[in-house]
Amino acid sequence: MTTSQPTEKDLRYGRQSINEQDIDAVVEVLRGDWLTQGPTVPLFEQAVAEYVGAEYAVAFSSGTAALHGAAFAAGLGLGDRVVTSPLTFMASANCVRYVGASPALADIDRDTWNLNPALVDGSPEAVVAVHYAGLPMDLAVLEGRTATVIEDAAHALGASTPDGMVGKCESSDLCCFSFHPVKPITTAEGGMVTTNNPVLAERLRAFRSHGIRRVHSDEGWAYEIDEIGFNYRLTDLQAALGLSQLGRIEEFIERRNALAARYRTLLSDLPLTLPPAAGPGVRHGYHLFPVHVADRRRVYDALHEDGIRVQVHYVPVHHHPVSRDIALPSGGLPVCDEVYAGLLSLPLHAEMTESDQDRVVQSVRRIL
Ligand SMILES: *Cc1c(COP(=O)(O)O)cnc(C)c1O
Repeated sequence: MTTSQPTEKDLRYGRQSINEQDIDAVVEVLRGDWLTQGPTVPLFEQAVAEYVGAEYAVAFSSGTAALHGAAFAAGLGLGDRVVTSPLTFMASANCVRYVGASPALADIDRDTWNLNPALVDGSPEAVVAVHYAGLPMDLAVLEGRTATVIEDAAHALGASTPDGMVGKCESSDLCCFSFHPVKPITTAEGGMVTTNNPVLAERLRAFRSHGIRRVHSDEGWAYEIDEIGFNYRLTDLQAALGLSQLGRIEEFIERRNALAARYRTLLSDLPLTLPPAAGPGVRHGYHLFPVHVADRRRVYDALHEDGIRVQVHYVPVHHHPVSRDIALPSGGLPVCDEVYAGLLSLPLHAEMTESDQDRVVQSVRRIL
């Protein structure tokens, strides 16, 4: 995909921020008794639940595994139709396929680039709501349109609305996060589901560990498996990194917002469309800074020539051959297709300096 081999000086669209404290936290676990799921995983779960204001948080080995767990816990299966946004990573649709249900797509809203709730019709069994780029989708609007709301909040840990933090599940059943290195905080690989429903939390915990449930019995070893589960456990090493990273999230989100505001000023006179901004009372997570340009192919290649490794988020769900199982709405998904045609994510992450950003802006200015 890139036109040349990456070098040290290249600016990537996203990357992790790891400090000495993060490293020490992992090393400390390595010296202890528990490597995989031990005492640190529940501490991390507790900390995430408190941060977002949810009752329960259940850790998973990736954001994709978290989405799979959420689709399972919600009881989705054969014959269920589940609507998601076409402008997302395939995992938002694949989690529906994993449990035998059928993904469906509705077009995005031109003003937010999130799923347009007005186009969610036919009372689907569930909606997988994606907070694209970190801008929270308004979920209250989905009320009455679907039985279950699962949030794909892979981009949006740290974002908030007047209802509270993303993950509080004020207007949803389950909310899924990813801790991949480019995401708001990282555990290398990792994910989490938050919910306020104790039954769903219990199903999530069983599902991530082979379906095992403790049962009351005078046999000390007793456990029971009554549904298929997986090994989707997060390790204590990763949980220690996650806990340490969570202590830095406010700093990360503020930095991302400051850089995004600076991009908006520095790019304001150029012939490009800036990403949708947060409305009153909403905090954007700014996982991505996706702009829309004419002649994206030329701009992409020229930026890569300058060592600025922009990316495209995403090749839409319905453009991939695997989505031949999805019947599109009559009239297609014109807004998504139009946005995708010019989409380009400029570098944005917590360790980016203003001089890095100036280099990006100068390059974009010259190319446009
Ligand atoms: C990153 C991402 C995922 C998957 O998360 P992993 O931790 O990489 O499995 C799912 N959905 C969206 C929108 C993402 O960006």
